[in-house]
Amino acid sequence: MKFAYAFTEKKNLHKLEQKKGQIEVFVKELVGKIEKLTSYKVRPIEYFVLHDFASATKVHSHYPVPAWTTPERGVINFCPEEKRWQNIMKTNVKQLNLPESAERNLLKHYDQWNLDFLLDDVVGHELCHLLEIFENLPDGMDWFEEGLCFYLPRRILSETKKELVKEIYQQEMKLVSYSQRWVKGHFLKDFSAYRTKLHNNLIIFLNDYHLAANATKELVDEIVGGDVREVMQAAEQVSSEIEEPPEQVMKTFIQKLFERFNLDQEKFRSFVRKFRIF
Ligand SMILES: [Zn+2]
Repeated sequence: MKFAYAFTEKKNLHKLEQKKGQIEVFVKELVGKIEKLTSYKVRPIEYFVLHDFASATKVHSHYPVPAWTTPERGVINFCPEEKRWQNIMKTNVKQLNLPESAERNLLKHYDQWNLDFLLDDVVGHELCHLLEIFENLPDGMDWFEEGLCFYLPRRILSETKKELVKEIYQQEMKLVSYSQRWVKGHFLKDFSAYRTKLHNNLIIFLNDYHLAANATKELVDEIVGGDVREVMQAAEQVSSEIEEPPEQVMKTFIQKLFERFNLDQEKFRSFVRKFRIF
């Protein structure tokens, strides 16, 4: 893994370089843990690019958050400026115009987003996009991929910080419910709209990702019983049988998964309803 730097002001280079050591150690350890947990290989990381905030959000990408991965080139991009991340998340909350106490409670959570947290929850997520399984899944399984990329590092984090991980998921679902009047029925069934302009809207962008994370967690932990390896193997097998166009893939996938694990129909319906999967 080589490091590269992208900066708009020369003084930021030194700050980025100072974070390299910690990131390098973290990534190496996490790759091992993810491979052990899933039995899938993580593709080699060719370059880990550290960006300053303007480079990540104005020069090289238009995503509302400054982290993304290009799996086919083995490149992870990440801005390690923790205050910027906190501000993005806090801006999202403030846009919702909530009653003061609800807003205060939500905002408090983001003060914990220091570099350690970003490595666990953001870099961990990006790293999981390099898992070989995602090369074999058909187009249209976007939210499952995103959801698994949240699930896996959080599952590892929960071994040492169980309460924090619980808090993250709860915080996300609170935001999903508070965001409803802004996203106007935009739910998991619309997830692939993330490739469209809608995803420049921070509320919709985060709402989609929070839903994907929580739906995948519920699917793996509560519906299938926590065996993530089994779910991933089933996903690979089931998706090789899917012939539908991308917009129908998630529907067929979830149906087949329920059949394969012989799961309760009522559970199936309530899962589909809760996250409005179709
Ligand atoms: Zn992702």
